[in-house]
Amino acid sequence: MRPDKDLPDTLGLATRAVHAGNAVDPGTGAIRTPLVMANSYALPADPSALSWSGFDVPLYTRNSGANQLALQRKLAALERAEDALVLASGVAALHAVFFTLLRTGEHAVVSDVTYEAVWRLFAEILPARYAVQATFVDTSDVDAVRAAMRPNTRLVHTEVIANPTTRVCDVAALAGIAHGAGALLSVDSTFTPPPLLRPLEHGADLVVHSLTKFINGHGDAMGGAVLGEKALLDRIRADAMIDVGGVVSPFNAWLIGRGAITLPLRLRQHFASAARVAAFLAAHPAVAYVAYPGLATHPQHALATRLFDGQGYGGVLAFALEGDADLQNRFVAALRVITSAVSVGHDESLIVHVGAEGARAARWPSPFRRYGHLRLSVGLEEPDDLIADLDAALEQVAPAH
Ligand code: PLP
Repeated sequence: MRPDKDLPDTLGLATRAVHAGNAVDPGTGAIRTPLVMANSYALPADPSALSWSGFDVPLYTRNSGANQLALQRKLAALERAEDALVLASGVAALHAVFFTLLRTGEHAVVSDVTYEAVWRLFAEILPARYAVQATFVDTSDVDAVRAAMRPNTRLVHTEVIANPTTRVCDVAALAGIAHGAGALLSVDSTFTPPPLLRPLEHGADLVVHSLTKFINGHGDAMGGAVLGEKALLDRIRADAMIDVGGVVSPFNAWLIGRGAITLPLRLRQHFASAARVAAFLAAHPAVAYVAYPGLATHPQHALATRLFDGQGYGGVLAFALEGDADLQNRFVAALRVITSAVSVGHDESLIVHVGAEGARAARWPSPFRRYGHLRLSVGLEEPDDLIADLDAALEQVAPAH
């Protein structure tokens, strides 16, 4: 396969999204990188000195393959990273980072609002199985993060916009604290895909994405990525890809690479529609609260405005109606366009009603604990249709307002 076009660094994101990771296929002349459903690649005449745990040349699809490599090149170009590593899911990517970087007796400082699997990994699995220590902190509070650092802290981990509370953290400030203590900063940027934020440019050492979400964008393939310097990613490949094995399938890598072509275009619509939906909900008297960084009432609105530089505030918001769980469920059931399902960043708008039980939820802000929340990922439908759908459902379940 021929290498990608030689793309100048000056090209804009939309151009990179189209061209990076694509090449003319010498076998067929096709101008699109083909889908290569093969487990094994031809060996050299004398393979006796090859490392069977190597990953620099395609050898076996658990080590690397044509479609994984193409997707990695596209993601690295979008995130402006030296290197990218793709795996089977966002959680596989997160686990790969933690598994590689943390050893028995070492300590991590972890955002106290994170995706559930990260919470479980640090609250239960890594401490119980590997004696890794973790302190959960509010990563929007730099003093709290500084105070949580210990001599054996090796990693600080956070999301930029936290799932589900939409809390925003200052990546550069966290990088300063982590590096000052000899630790690395890993950032789950799933809710803030490029160009909204490039955490590596703010000092993060590693960026993690669930590709399942905005980057693929079509709700039909799972994947995860870690981005950063090649030397660090090679350690993760060696420990957590080759010998744990959670690799992405060639087909999913191909689908995600195709989806990512339209990422910059799609994000503009997600962000514009989410801002309109958030403003509509915030003004509705039946709505108890709305969490969205674009609202002036959001606690980190000023920080988000600075970080995201006027591009938008993401495509996900959380809210609840003034009322009990039954009311939230009746509201979701009354929606006709917006689909009740988990996940975010798909082409279709998705809503999920989440209660406030358990230790993880005890860290959420008080309205989340009082009412639970409806997490709404605003999709690519006409924003007027989404607002009309929400309005009609509100009218049906809360007519007094
Ligand atoms: N990180 C965040 C912020 C998420 O919201 C999710 C999934 O919802 C994940 C990671 C996990 O990604 P995946 O479902 O691809 O494993």
